[in-house]
Amino acid sequence: MAAFEFVELSANNGVDALARPVFMAVPWKGRGFIGLRSDKKAALEPDRHIEASDMTDDPMLRTIDDFVAAMGGLPMAAKGIRFVSIKGNTPGPATLTARLGKQTAKLDIGVLRSKTFSIAFRFLRHRDAADPQQTAGTSFKPADAQGMVDGLNSVYGPQANIAFTLANAQMVEIDSVLPQPVDDQVKDDVMVPRIDKDADITAFLVGKWWHGRLKGSPNGSHYGLAGGKHLVVMNDKPSPVSRENLDWFLVTLAHEVGHSIGGGHQARNRVLLADADHAESLKIDKELLKQLNSWNADSKAAKPAAGQSHD
Ligand SMILES: [Zn+2]
Repeated sequence: MAAFEFVELSANNGVDALARPVFMAVPWKGRGFIGLRSDKKAALEPDRHIEASDMTDDPMLRTIDDFVAAMGGLPMAAKGIRFVSIKGNTPGPATLTARLGKQTAKLDIGVLRSKTFSIAFRFLRHRDAADPQQTAGTSFKPADAQGMVDGLNSVYGPQANIAFTLANAQMVEIDSVLPQPVDDQVKDDVMVPRIDKDADITAFLVGKWWHGRLKGSPNGSHYGLAGGKHLVVMNDKPSPVSRENLDWFLVTLAHEVGHSIGGGHQARNRVLLADADHAESLKIDKELLKQLNSWNADSKAAKPAAGQSHD
């Protein structure tokens, strides 16, 4: 018989299925969804901070399940998965216990307050060292910025209740020759003076990026600057760091932005802020979430100091 346990319904939706007990982030005053592997409808015992309901027999869900079946998929009921909706009523830690006969399953929950950060984008073009009549730099344009912000929100909204707003997006056209890949000198001379001082984060798209400290081309880098501002430098075409079929530009942007909002590297595979020895993904795990948007009143989120840098 399959284990009676909480399971992830879809990737990157706020559930850390590897945590013990299984962990789930739920927005304060909002809802989250999780599966419960169970042959029958189980008793749900939420604590006073949340509400929980088994929606498996909800007519709307039935329609979705019928649609999945019609498309050749296996409906959840047939897989023995109950569909549980959880509403966060008070911010902080919460627990849901499910019982079926002598079996119990616990779900550890963080009900998260919302957080918002502003991000500005800069698109660098400059004269090409190989032919000063030509220009070089990023292939992206200011019109691409909103899509990048939408991507960040798709990663951070469901998993961390964190939203990003687009402060502005501007071309930076330098009428002189700069190296390509651009290097630390360009970062200091061109990028740092042109950050948006009113935005929490400024992301620079530069074409190719080369980093003196690493003596190589990281996919992206993060710099903590004076006044609590943050600079992110992006390669236009980040290299895949695993064989997973992911949007590596979004993985890299979300990773560097993660450093900008208080996240440190995690020694775990397939998470957003995996360190250099582990493969990154779009997953925000419980340990990282504690740093980005803690639900425990007594633990303070890490604040990256000015002068810190990450890749
Ligand atoms: Zn990093």
